[in-house]
Amino acid sequence: MSRQNIGLVIFDCDGVLIDSEPIASRTLATALQDAGIAISAEEALRVFTGNSEPAIRKMCADDYGLADVDGTFSKWHEALEHAFATDLLPMRGMVDLVAQLDLPKCVASNSRTRRLQQSLGNTALWEIFSPHIYSAEMVDRPKPAPDLLLHCADQLGVDPDACVMIDDSAHGIAAAHAAGMRSIGFVDPNDPRPGRPKALEHAGADHVVTGAAALAAVLAQMA
Ligand SMILES: [Mg+2]
Repeated sequence: MSRQNIGLVIFDCDGVLIDSEPIASRTLATALQDAGIAISAEEALRVFTGNSEPAIRKMCADDYGLADVDGTFSKWHEALEHAFATDLLPMRGMVDLVAQLDLPKCVASNSRTRRLQQSLGNTALWEIFSPHIYSAEMVDRPKPAPDLLLHCADQLGVDPDACVMIDDSAHGIAAAHAAGMRSIGFVDPNDPRPGRPKALEHAGADHVVTGAAALAAVLAQMA
């Protein structure tokens, strides 16, 4: 394979570029607990990670019986913005990997644009990717639908079969498959959830890696 075989590397944001999922789960669990829902941060991480906010709202209402969805989520957003400003770090090794990557690249996230500004925007990664930072708010359907990834390919002028998606959730891997793209499942070495590599393999990832160094090695091999 020549280098041209990768025309675009598409990065998921939360859980790949930034170590945001533990912060999001902890603050969401607290907001839900304050609304009378019994849920731990661990359960919130396991259940909600990788879903768009509209999907999480629906799960909270349907599966957990949350009545005041708007009020609870607006309290969560406030706590999340504060926690991102004080606690958020890039995923270990990812700033160097991205800065040294000699290929076109972009971000494709199920998070809202405002949340991306408050999270990714707090790190050196924003400048590296800007303006190619795409949110599910820009398309009709979030991942696992292919819409957002096809939007990325279109914006960068690259054929889907020359794109590689890197995502830590099965939804992202499924979206890549639906878009006709190759995919790499990313596992955070500190992710407390068991069986992540298997879950990503099962979702159809072409490769599964744990940590930024392993990701760099697979990208070099694919290129
Ligand atoms: Mg993610």
